[in-house]
Amino acid sequence: MRVGGATGRIIRSEGMAHPAPARLSDPVEKLPSVGARTAESLAILGIHTAEDLLWHLPLRFEHEQAEMTIAEAEELLPDQEGAQENISVRGEIAAIRTLPGRKPRVEATLEDETGTIQLIFFNAGWLRGRLNPGMRIIVEGRAKRYRGYLQLANPTWRIEGVEPTEMDPGRMEQYRPVYPATESLNSRRIESILEPRLEELVAQVPEPLPEELRTGRAMPRLDEALLSAHRPASPDAAAAARRRLSYDELLLLQLGVMMKRWHLRETLIAPAMPINPELEKRIKARLPFTLTDDQANVCDEIFSDLAQTVPMNRLLQGDVGSGKTAVALCAMLLATANQQQAALLAPTELLAEQHHASISRMLEGSDVRIELLTGTMTASERKDLLSRLASGECHMVIGTHALLSDDVSFQQLGLVVIDEQHRFGVEQRARLRRPDARGVIPHVLVMTATPIPRTLSLTVFGDLDVSVIRSRPPGRQPVISRIVEPSNAHKVYEYLAERVAAGEQGYVVVPAIDESDLGLKDVEGHRKRLSEGPLANARIGAVHGRLSRDEREDIMNRFRRGEIDVLVATVVIEVGVDVPNATMMVIEHAERFGLAQLHQLRGRVGRGSARSVCAFIGSPSTDEGHRRLEAIGNSDDGFDIAEMDLAIRGPGELFGARQSGLPPFRVADLTRDIDLLRLARRDATDLIEQDPRLESPDAAELRRLLMKRYGQALGLGDVG
Ligand code: ADP
Ligand code: MG
Repeated sequence: MRVGGATGRIIRSEGMAHPAPARLSDPVEKLPSVGARTAESLAILGIHTAEDLLWHLPLRFEHEQAEMTIAEAEELLPDQEGAQENISVRGEIAAIRTLPGRKPRVEATLEDETGTIQLIFFNAGWLRGRLNPGMRIIVEGRAKRYRGYLQLANPTWRIEGVEPTEMDPGRMEQYRPVYPATESLNSRRIESILEPRLEELVAQVPEPLPEELRTGRAMPRLDEALLSAHRPASPDAAAAARRRLSYDELLLLQLGVMMKRWHLRETLIAPAMPINPELEKRIKARLPFTLTDDQANVCDEIFSDLAQTVPMNRLLQGDVGSGKTAVALCAMLLATANQQQAALLAPTELLAEQHHASISRMLEGSDVRIELLTGTMTASERKDLLSRLASGECHMVIGTHALLSDDVSFQQLGLVVIDEQHRFGVEQRARLRRPDARGVIPHVLVMTATPIPRTLSLTVFGDLDVSVIRSRPPGRQPVISRIVEPSNAHKVYEYLAERVAAGEQGYVVVPAIDESDLGLKDVEGHRKRLSEGPLANARIGAVHGRLSRDEREDIMNRFRRGEIDVLVATVVIEVGVDVPNATMMVIEHAERFGLAQLHQLRGRVGRGSARSVCAFIGSPSTDEGHRRLEAIGNSDDGFDIAEMDLAIRGPGELFGARQSGLPPFRVADLTRDIDLLRLARRDATDLIEQDPRLESPDAAELRRLLMKRYGQALGLGDVG
């Protein structure tokens, strides 16, 4: 097929002289040329019906070139020195090296399933770090034989998936769609299944938008947009299609979020937990410090939410170390004072244990009964605790995912706090929030140290009210950050040894548990190396996810008490660990961590009044890795870092979008479509105000699409 709707020929499969027209609801097996095997491959892509296939949109369009496999290129070039031929091949960079000198030469081996070819770039120092092993690229140039090998000197190249240029309107017929594909079903095959059916399928697509809205927003009809999305007649048609499909996608999500919010507010209630000055004083007296102004303000917001029967659904954002836990504890104490149970959900066992320990300390001498629920309890311990939760004997529970299991029930759960919420999906959050027989649900407070960029807070988290703690507890100093080349790592450890000698403590984070062939440092191996070398005089402990809970707890307690000087760890310590005397952090292979993760890790230090240092040891081999390290070295502000993360990685990768459990956008791109998002948000507000359940016949198709796309992920099943 060639793109170009106006002139596009429709090719029909042979032997299908009079096939019955395909219907949108037909299973794909009913389409000509789709057998059971192909149907299975389509199912892997989430395509079960003809409608699904129609919504399987091209990722991009590719200019058709005389592309060939490396084996074909081999055949093209006679095996004689000096033979030359123009070729274009695509493959993976298997190896690459730079030969130093005043005019550095870069040599790479490109590999496809059929063979390898040598790439040579002269005077190409600038290429260093841009092309890396494992990258897939498309190269074009004049190939020749050199000592029997196939060689391509100074080829033009581009990374697979990056569009060469804007589409050229004069050559529309030369572009072809590139569909998301699998090993067993390539893009061309998908194209050949859809192409002959495209027009008849598109013709059946109903228009979900009210006419007035559609024309008011200058949007093409949905059927036109879908046709152009697969087979644009011009670059303008492709752009208009993209705009319409993005808008629809954003509108559906907004509708879903708002419908849910409406449902929550109108149909469900939570227990009211009133407060009075005397009670407030008693609650705050439990804390070993005075709340900062920000903390106190957030507490007020939460207290006034909790006094209502409208279920609270609040997000508390505050950078690592800003003191969110104290605020959460105040809210939980208000719950218990009102004869309600409270639960705190933590993402890791380590963190749950720590919360349990620190909150227990603050509750000493009170009659609040607090317990810990994790996945590593014995069956009988667990059974006993579950019965105390069900009877109301246990007032406060701190737990991990184990709290979400079906057999956990409460006598009267009034408040759920979710720490580091980005580690829990929407569905998991909803679990603790199932209404009881009387339609009563708990209030929910979710906390995050990874700020949600404004763009995302409008979408995925659009149903939450937001509170922010900006300041840090008094006496904190910013952490000094240094990026260190691996060849200078010894200096970092010498410095760490000095600080240990001065009575301070430190963390060393490594990316993996086992020594792997990538040459990464493993926890135990690294501990051993350090104890034999630079840290011979320090007491070193190691924690990682494979230790039993008792072993880990023991080591953490010894570290907390100062009996261990240096803790070598995996990212298990990423969130929440709080040891103020630890003033130095070393992160090995820093290039392997995400930006938000690096910021979280760094947040483990700078918790006391002493000056803290964080050394990021790494040598990035990609441009992205380089930018990440640069960003972390330059900023200590979680909000800045989140925005930089968005810019570097793009929203698809960002937490929340992926971890939220929502299906990713197919077309919309939040870095580009922010204006469209605002528009969609406004339009969704209007639509829901007029018709909160989208019950009118006009909205039927919109509602159907909404339920199909987000119904399950957003838990809309019980709405209307
Ligand atoms: P977060 O969860 O936001 O990362 P934490 O709640 O763990 O932060 O608090 C970090 C540290 O600051 C803890 O040791 C806590 O006891 C301390 N802290 C919290 N609030 C205050 C405050 N108002 N004054 C002094 N120290 C505080
Ligand atoms: Mg915390």
